[in-house]
Formats: sequence, C-alpha cells, structure tokens
Amino acid sequence: MDCRNARAKVRIERIKANGGEHTQKEWLQLLEASTRCAVCNRAWDEIPLRPDGRYRHTWTKGHKIPILHGGTNKIGNIQAECYQCNFTKNAGKLKRDHLLTIDHQEKIKRKNDMAIKQERVSRRFSFILKSGVEVFPVLVKDSMTNNIAFRVTPGGTGSNLNINQDQVDEEAMVLRVLSHNYSVRCSSLDGKTTGLYKNGARSVEKVILAA
Ligand SMILES: [Zn+2]
Repeated sequence: MDCRNARAKVRIERIKANGGEHTQKEWLQLLEASTRCAVCNRAWDEIPLRPDGRYRHTWTKGHKIPILHGGTNKIGNIQAECYQCNFTKNAGKLKRDHLLTIDHQEKIKRKNDMAIKQERVSRRFSFILKSGVEVFPVLVKDSMTNNIAFRVTPGGTGSNLNINQDQVDEEAMVLRVLSHNYSVRCSSLDGKTTGLYKNGARSVEKVILAA
C-alpha cells in the first residue's frame, strides 16, 4: 500500500470513529447555497484553478471541526471550502509547503520585496560584483536602539557580524568607503544579495559613482 492509500485509510477510519453521516443530496444542497469559501470568504471564481487540471472545481467538502480534532461527518459539521483552505488545514507542515500555490508564493514574495524597499539604499554609488549583481549601501535598523544608519567597518568583507560596525549617516558612509577603504553593508535591490563590500574586494568588479 502506498502512502496516499495508507493516509486515506486512516482518514476513513477516523471519520468512522468520530461518527455521524450525511447524504450526497444534503451535501449538494449545502454546496448550492454556498457561493463562497466558508474559511477565506472568496467567491469560487476568485480562487486560482487547481494546479492539477483533473480537478475542475475550486470548492471542496470540508469539516468545520476537522476530522483530526474529532469533528463528526454530520451535515452540521460540513461546509464548502476552497481547496487552498481545505488542504492547508488538513496537510502536515511538510505537505503544506508543497501545496503552497503560485498565488500564495506570490503573496510571500511581495511581502519580502516590501521589506527590502522599506530598507532604503543610498544611490551615491554602487558596487558591481563579479557575479554581475549590483549592490547598494543599505540603511539598516538597529534592533536594540531602532537607530537607522549605514553600517561601515574598517574590517574585511563578506561577514555579517555586527562587531566593529559603525553606524553612520550617508555623508560619513560615502567618505569612509570611497576615501578610507571601509566596507559597507550592501543589498541588491531584490534583496537576494546582501553583505559587506568594499572597493577592491575580491568579489567586487567595480564601483559605479552616481553622476
Ligand atoms: Zn478558502
């Protein structure tokens, strides 16, 4: 027996143990009366189509109190839910990650992008890395003091350690990095590349000065 069959069998046994039953007609009547997902309240056509094209509907039969938590199979415990809500509720953590749809992933990405934009960058200069990525000095908030500043250090590059990092304003940052060879904490605009960089470091191809 493969995993899926084993899981289905466990579920059927749980439903039996929890008790209660409903007819197909009762379910269809309930579905007819449900124009939206009972969990997220989106209309059925607002929900992205299921990745597996064999499933043409976005609605599924769900249990108000999940089977796993002792919910019964009586019609009073049944509701129409979109597949995203239903699967998120029932799936284990690992499974849930796999089931994250493009829609959900898009939301998470947007949230991350916003976090980056909230960190302001300096446009006075940038580094072009050997990888081709362009990184800019980035304002960082001190989690202890809430001070927002550029982080510079006379030390090496690459390290994310806060030791020996001075918190300075833009003028001081530009002076130290361009004239005194300090490293500065940088980020690419998409936030994927971050680190301490300085002029002449191995990973740095060149410095671009703002016109
Ligand atoms: Zn939903």
